Amino acid sequence: MAITIIKDFCKGCGFCIDFCPKKVYDLSEEMNQKGYRLPRPVREEECTECGLCDLYCPDFAIFLEKTKKKARPKGKEGR
Ligand code: SF4
Ligand code: SF4
Repeated sequence: MAITIIKDFCKGCGFCIDFCPKKVYDLSEEMNQKGYRLPRPVREEECTECGLCDLYCPDFAIFLEKTKKKARPKGKEGR
């Protein structure tokens, strides 16, 4: 999953950090223009693409882009 935090939308609530089952996010030292400390994805390789962080972010500050392709079941090629 490619994870983008839209910095100026974030209010530093930490929901993405708390709700990610894989602990992909950590709190960074970086602040946005409003003075909120920003989360950062530090373990993106652990992401299961569950979408919870996007779902729980109250400020639409997380943009997810799927990078993993789902494997096709065998025998379904060439339909
Ligand atoms: S999509 Fe799921 S696993 Fe990936 S960062 Fe968000 S909450 Fe964590
Ligand atoms: S849930 Fe959204 S607003 Fe809250 S810290 Fe994460 S990115 Fe920022």
